[in-house]
Amino acid sequence: MQENAHGHSPGGHQFIPIPSEVTKVDLNRILLDAIVHVSGYHYVVDLGPDVKPRLHTISKEKRCNCIHGKDCPAIAAVTEFLRKGGERAPDPPPGYFPVAPEKCPICNAPAYHEPRLNRSHLGAGWGCSKTGEKHYWRYRSQLIQEALKANPWLFPPVVIRAGKQIKAWDGILPSDTVLYEGVLRADVVSST
Ligand SMILES: [Zn+2]
Ligand SMILES: [Zn+2]
Repeated sequence: MQENAHGHSPGGHQFIPIPSEVTKVDLNRILLDAIVHVSGYHYVVDLGPDVKPRLHTISKEKRCNCIHGKDCPAIAAVTEFLRKGGERAPDPPPGYFPVAPEKCPICNAPAYHEPRLNRSHLGAGWGCSKTGEKHYWRYRSQLIQEALKANPWLFPPVVIRAGKQIKAWDGILPSDTVLYEGVLRADVVSST
């Protein structure tokens, strides 16, 4: 059990600094004392026991999960943390959304969170304010197309080329002696 022995005077600063009643000085002090750490693809800001909510989870796009969103004062603590060389939150893999995107990646219209489309391997589901789920599905199929282009083979062909047995990631050439034809991803990827 930690006593309130380091710095924070008991009984002092009982305010809730957000939204507007806070004086700038108090807010600055709180942000200076804030503790920032990386959690998953986010930053978590601990504003200390005097503040409610105490913990603010902020995305790499600088949006807080509290009601203040991109206007949350805790975002300044992340900016300062990074300016001082703090560890950057990792970039999520392509197509993975830790939170729903603000804008539709297809048409740039405002996007919204669609919990029904949340997937553990893709993150937060989303819809497009212009087309609903249509652009969500178009985006997903573009990702699949790109992945197929990057590596079309589920199992590459095995051939004898120039006297050596190799895996033909570049496909079968007319001069190859084919030992195994390989399996294309496109032949097994379902249309979901
Ligand atoms: Zn916040
Ligand atoms: Zn769209």
